[in-house]
Amino acid sequence: MANVRLEDIKRRFNNVTAIEDITFEIPDGEFWVLVGPSGCGKSTILRTIAGLETATSGKLLIGDRLMNNIPARQRDVAMVFQNYALYPHMTVAQNIAFGLQMRKVDAKIIQERVVTVARSLSLEHLLERKPKQLSGGQQQRVALGRAIAREPQVFLLDEPLSNLDAQLRDDTRAELKQLHQELGITTVYVTHDQVEAMTLADKIVVLNRGRIQQIGDPQSIYALPANQMVATFLGSPPMNILPAIYKNDGFDIGEQLIQVPAGIQEKLQLRQGQSCNLGIRPEHIYINSDSALSNASRLNWGNPRTALAPQHAAQLPLPLTALLVDVKVVEPLGRETLIRASLPGSIVLLNLQIGGDVRVRTGDRLHTQLDLNHLFVFDSKTGDRIIPN
Ligand code: ATP
Repeated sequence: MANVRLEDIKRRFNNVTAIEDITFEIPDGEFWVLVGPSGCGKSTILRTIAGLETATSGKLLIGDRLMNNIPARQRDVAMVFQNYALYPHMTVAQNIAFGLQMRKVDAKIIQERVVTVARSLSLEHLLERKPKQLSGGQQQRVALGRAIAREPQVFLLDEPLSNLDAQLRDDTRAELKQLHQELGITTVYVTHDQVEAMTLADKIVVLNRGRIQQIGDPQSIYALPANQMVATFLGSPPMNILPAIYKNDGFDIGEQLIQVPAGIQEKLQLRQGQSCNLGIRPEHIYINSDSALSNASRLNWGNPRTALAPQHAAQLPLPLTALLVDVKVVEPLGRETLIRASLPGSIVLLNLQIGGDVRVRTGDRLHTQLDLNHLFVFDSKTGDRIIPN
């Protein structure tokens, strides 16, 4: 096991700069996830660590060893790809053993290790099968097994779950997390799936257009995204963005004003007339279900994470501000319901997330409340977070 350090790594392909200013250090044994939209440079970073790409400039260290000029096979890293690339003519046992045989490890040790790895991945009963006799999830576990058996210093995983169906993906994700907890091998995992990033990572590196946007643990990044790109990338449904102009007593968003209490206005330090983008997560917009005519007698506050009885709602210490929205689409999911709504007189659409027991219909006009404690303000040109500052 080892730490992995990237110092100012850049990779250029002719006139395309794939990654730039990439600097971070993964401590020994941690699980880091590189996440971002397609083409942001995730795989290029992973392949540079693996030795399958050469950095145009910058330094890569694994442990204390400078790796820039060390060939891939001498780096003691194991990589697992999306297409598992098992040897079709070999059995599961032979596939798992392959890397060890190439290293001329003693046959008895290989056999022991194959059994141990197969047990940890629930593959013992499949050892004599060929890959084509396995399901996609089992094949992916064999690919992981082959990598684990080598006991590398570093694991590099490039979208390893993306070929699996939804259920298998969830199961394998949980297994992967457990496996990492048992083995403690430093791991770099690439995905464009924000759920995988949030659930697996000790630390997430969010990338966009070849540059790091933010590094942090999942909760911190979710709670305090550095900019609008990060804010809208992590979270499902994503954070709502409302273009606004700051005025004396609040934010003008077209036909409505998001009123800001005087105490908060003083802290904002925005110019009069300044355009900005407001950000609010779906779970921080509460609906007063009195406004959903079909459900007048039920809970006052429909948010699942803050499902408060009416008497509590009256005592809420939160600064709230009212907002009218028109319901366009209702998606009941059982425990909760997702709503797509528009602002009256505007093309801006909002995502809301309310308790599954609150009845709302397409066409309803809802009186919502925004929780100003969780309101973000982003620079409308750069996307940088202005508030909280
Ligand atoms: P995806 O999620 O779609 O796999 P990614 O985030 O892994 O994308 P990379 O594959 O690292 O992105 O690519 C980053 C950028 O570098 C892209 O713009 C890509 O087109 C470019 N790129 C990658 N490899 C090459 C290459 N061999 N030649 C030219 N451009 C390349």
